[in-house]
Amino acid sequence: MLSTLKNRLEQGCKTSKYPKEKIELSPRYRGVPKIHKDVPAELVAKCADACPQNAIDAERKLIDMGRCVFCGTCERISKGRFVSFTRNFELAVSEKDHLMTDGTLPDLARHSRQHFKKLFGRSLQLRQVSAAGCNACEADLNVLATPFFDLARFGINFVASPRHADGIVVTGPISRNMKQALFDTLEAVPAPKVVIAVGSCTLSGGPFSGSPEITEGLDALMDVDLFIPGCPPHPMTNLHALLTFFK
Ligand code: SF4
Ligand code: SF4
Repeated sequence: MLSTLKNRLEQGCKTSKYPKEKIELSPRYRGVPKIHKDVPAELVAKCADACPQNAIDAERKLIDMGRCVFCGTCERISKGRFVSFTRNFELAVSEKDHLMTDGTLPDLARHSRQHFKKLFGRSLQLRQVSAAGCNACEADLNVLATPFFDLARFGINFVASPRHADGIVVTGPISRNMKQALFDTLEAVPAPKVVIAVGSCTLSGGPFSGSPEITEGLDALMDVDLFIPGCPPHPMTNLHALLTFFK
């Protein structure tokens, strides 16, 4: 018993002070992409051709963050001259059109809906629906419950039953077999309810885009309130999105 207490004292409090204190992610982390428009068209075309996700609009010199899997190929090929990735993890947007970017994103706080903040600002219960995801998006949502992030201190929890939830958080490319389960889960959530799409699979089909077995974007099936890009989105991206949109 004494050794347990001693250990607890030695460990101290491991919970992050975010958002009161800033968090710096690893230099290897790829966050908001920055597009440098002043480059030869051939280099842009080369990057667009090499992109495995068809996420680069070479003509307008923009990246579709809904399709991008943040593999870094475009940055490597252009040696950072066309695309360079920042360590800014604040990637979430409230309109799908905002995912098409040159690195400038609208202020999510300004686009959040005041009635959501009023309804869910003090307590937000979410049901997670893994619609055929690879489990990485799910794992990085799950980690929000650990002592470092401690999502519950903000009044946000993941719950087992959609009947106890205020909304759903969807991950994965929404396979044909998961579609009805997703609709049933959403229907079981009492109104008013929110829908949050997490990860490139849910936003656009991601690496599975083009397959007849999946849905190319959750917004094709239902209204989506919050889009969180990434493959998978970093837990800080998810945390920033939830706090900024609902608090
Ligand atoms: S980082 Fe994104 S835009 Fe660049 S090549 Fe990879 S998927 Fe395409
Ligand atoms: S977006 Fe990437 S990490 Fe998330 S489920 Fe799809 S493949 Fe997995």
